[in-house]
Amino acid sequence: MIEVRNPADGSIVGHVKHHSEQEVREAIDRTCTAFHAWSRTLARQRSDLLRKWFELVRQDRQDFGELISRENGKCLTEALGEIDYGLGFIEWYAEEARRVYGDTIPSHAADAAVLVTKDPIGPVASITPWNFPFMMIARKVATALAAGCTIIIKPAEETPLTAYKLLEYARHAGIPEGVFEMVTGDPATIGGLMTSDPRIRKISFTGSTQIGRLLARQSADTLKKLTMELGGNAPFIVFDDADIEQALSGLVAAKLRNSGQVCISPNRIYVQAGIHDRFVQRLKEAVEQVRVDQGLQPDFVVGPLINQAALDKVSRLVEQAQSSGAKTLLGGRLHNNGGLFYAPTILTHLSDDMEICSTEIFGPVFPIYTFASEQEVIARANATEYGLVAYAFTRDLGRAFRLSRDIEAGMVILNSGSVGTASVPFGGVKQSGYGREGSYYGIEEYVHVKYMLMAGLGDAAR
Ligand code: NAP
Repeated sequence: MIEVRNPADGSIVGHVKHHSEQEVREAIDRTCTAFHAWSRTLARQRSDLLRKWFELVRQDRQDFGELISRENGKCLTEALGEIDYGLGFIEWYAEEARRVYGDTIPSHAADAAVLVTKDPIGPVASITPWNFPFMMIARKVATALAAGCTIIIKPAEETPLTAYKLLEYARHAGIPEGVFEMVTGDPATIGGLMTSDPRIRKISFTGSTQIGRLLARQSADTLKKLTMELGGNAPFIVFDDADIEQALSGLVAAKLRNSGQVCISPNRIYVQAGIHDRFVQRLKEAVEQVRVDQGLQPDFVVGPLINQAALDKVSRLVEQAQSSGAKTLLGGRLHNNGGLFYAPTILTHLSDDMEICSTEIFGPVFPIYTFASEQEVIARANATEYGLVAYAFTRDLGRAFRLSRDIEAGMVILNSGSVGTASVPFGGVKQSGYGREGSYYGIEEYVHVKYMLMAGLGDAAR
């Protein structure tokens, strides 16, 4: 069995099965065997099943929220927000299932017609991280099922209980065995079996760039289609002309979400010189108001980090910056709560050659850099191997358009700290991966285009 612990206090939340290699093979077999029948179900049937799943989960939103909070550490307010976010995908793809339209193309030949259909790509395997234990599964499963694919999921070892609860509710909704499967156990073994099986036609992975690259290499021999949602290093740029209060609230919300353990968390905060001191002072006042505590509270609190390795990484990055000359305006150390809690931290006087600038921090740390010109900050924002999201605050319309054109990222968010919802295409460029999730673009990842030439219509004979 795999033991699941609450990162807030180390207590045991539950156990899940450590599947053997043979059991993983059997689950992959079920996923592949179920594909033929599932891909031929009516779009309406798939839509209805997803809708039923959505309704059942929504009824027990509070139970799901408490479970997420206990196994992940995020506060209940955030956990409930994650559920609404995830349910949004199930609802969206219940609708989208009925709109996977093809095309007709004017024929290139006499006496013929050309049709294009979008067919489900085949059985899919997916591996998910711990930072959104509900939403990740909801998004991937809903899209795959809507497209007519079957799917097998390996959730993160830290947060498999929410994943299994979602599976249980899917079964109650009538989503059959094989159509949606789940395995837990040794990640390398499971990843190896998923990627080497020629019947699995797609891998959808969310997690670190390092594991993404490994899975892409492993999938090469069987030429699978891949969706890779990988790491980020988001710039958050505040220009002199920005609405400072708007920028502050966007920054605090985006940064402290899940204690900073989010791929789209602002990782490099660039503040233009003219407003730097005022902005930093206001940020300090705002962050000082935030409470750090364990999750099952009615109000927003910053929770613990997920495990000791995460805490060690954040501590190391901050200490390195401090010893290289960074000034600590707030925090800069473990939180007094002890355990896996890290104090919300503001660092200034940073330079781009520090490791904290090139590394995804994944903790409640606000590293503040200063800049002079638009050209300079765009170059610095792009000086990273990642390209997931970039945020910028400005009231200059021309500049807003120049930024969204020139910044290398899959998503550019102007005058807001909020990114994701079911109706928009989420994903990155460069080492942040490829493929999109959400919106009508998301379902395109689960279909292949089939061209059909229907010749010999018999026009000449009539
Ligand atoms: P991770 O170490 O890559 O783990 C993610 C998943 O991969 C887990 O289920 C893990 O299993 C599994 N895994 C680990 N080693 C594997 C192997 N050799 N073969 C197959 N699977 C393997 O990432 P993480 O630390 O959990 O998550 C944080 C990362 O995810 C960050 O870089 C973050 O930016 C990224 N992320 C990206 C997005 C996005 O949409 N772009 C969203 C969220 C997170 P175990 O749990 O069993 O080890």
